[in-house]
Amino acid sequence: MNQKIYDVLIIGAGPAGLSAALYAGRSRLSALIIEKEKDGGQIVITAEIDNYPGSLPHESGPSLVARMVEQTKRFGAEKVFDTVVEAHLKDDIKRLVGKKGEYLGRTVIVATGAHPRPIGCPGEADLIGKGVSYCATCDGDFFQDLEIFVVGGGDTAVEEAVYLTKFGRKVTIIHRRDELRAVKSIQEKAFANPKIRFMWDSVVTALEGDGVLEAMTVKNVKTGEETVIRADEEDGTFGVFGFVGLIPESSLFTDLLTMRNGYLITDDNMHTNIPGVFAAGDIREKSLRQVITAAADGAIAAMEANTYIEGTCLVNEPAASAEKERVHS
Ligand code: NAP
Repeated sequence: MNQKIYDVLIIGAGPAGLSAALYAGRSRLSALIIEKEKDGGQIVITAEIDNYPGSLPHESGPSLVARMVEQTKRFGAEKVFDTVVEAHLKDDIKRLVGKKGEYLGRTVIVATGAHPRPIGCPGEADLIGKGVSYCATCDGDFFQDLEIFVVGGGDTAVEEAVYLTKFGRKVTIIHRRDELRAVKSIQEKAFANPKIRFMWDSVVTALEGDGVLEAMTVKNVKTGEETVIRADEEDGTFGVFGFVGLIPESSLFTDLLTMRNGYLITDDNMHTNIPGVFAAGDIREKSLRQVITAAADGAIAAMEANTYIEGTCLVNEPAASAEKERVHS
């Protein structure tokens, strides 16, 4: 049996991949989304999205994703849950090998996004799901009336700290500097919240516990002083949520697509260094990683895929020259 050749293979079903599928569908391209786990990417672990135009008041990430998924279905995009383990991108027909099957396409849109970076201290890995978490929406409820610590000072850390005040009796943000990275409007919410405290200039150096998180060592980076924080006897445990940035999901494309610090380099029209291969969303090197910019990238990538298939695509100058730089450096 001849295998179906899709017009567009989209790797990842976050806002970038879903928007690409929507625009591909509207252009009457056949599109297959390949998603390794569940729809939505990082926004499924986001408690509230209030900066995407048209999102409902206090809308959760999962709610927004559910509507996006429905919309892509209306325009005919197919989807398979599979993990891509090999990418053969250089020929006219691109081939992706998954754990469950192989997929062929005329173009590929890489929308693989990024995943949370671990805090990076001893004891962390053993205590994931036993006090240590990277998802406030998923795990906040476990810490009802307990103490909660949030590590990080970016948008995610501060926003999720505010959300976690619904559960914890106190939420302490541990940040390695003495000012937050988060945008001012998010900071203001945290500073105004009486349940939120701060440990400035501090990093977590160890997490300990026998089956459940019981103690944490925090070091002041200016004085070198170390403080051991122990769970209240009555509580037995506390929560530590790590929001210290993202790691791009790009290892599949090492030596294939041009990248810097793991983020794929594209031109303004989402072209990578390989013709017919586009990148969209948080996986790209870019200045603003938001749902709205991911969605915009996805739309552009799909329209460029359409142009490429029609044979009218312009040569990808910036990404191609970046590739030359990389090869010659
Ligand atoms: P981020 O902006 O990279 O911030 C990471 C934070 O973790 C920074 O405060 C950083 O400290 C700290 N950090 C990094 N490595 C650390 C380590 N090893 N130990 C302790 N602290 C460490 O990451 P993010 O907050 O996850 O945001 C990712 C992207 O999503 C950003 O572009 C952000 O704007 C976007 N985002 C937007 C929204 C929104 O608009 N509502 C919500 C969430 C995320 P330093 O500040 O000292 O570097």
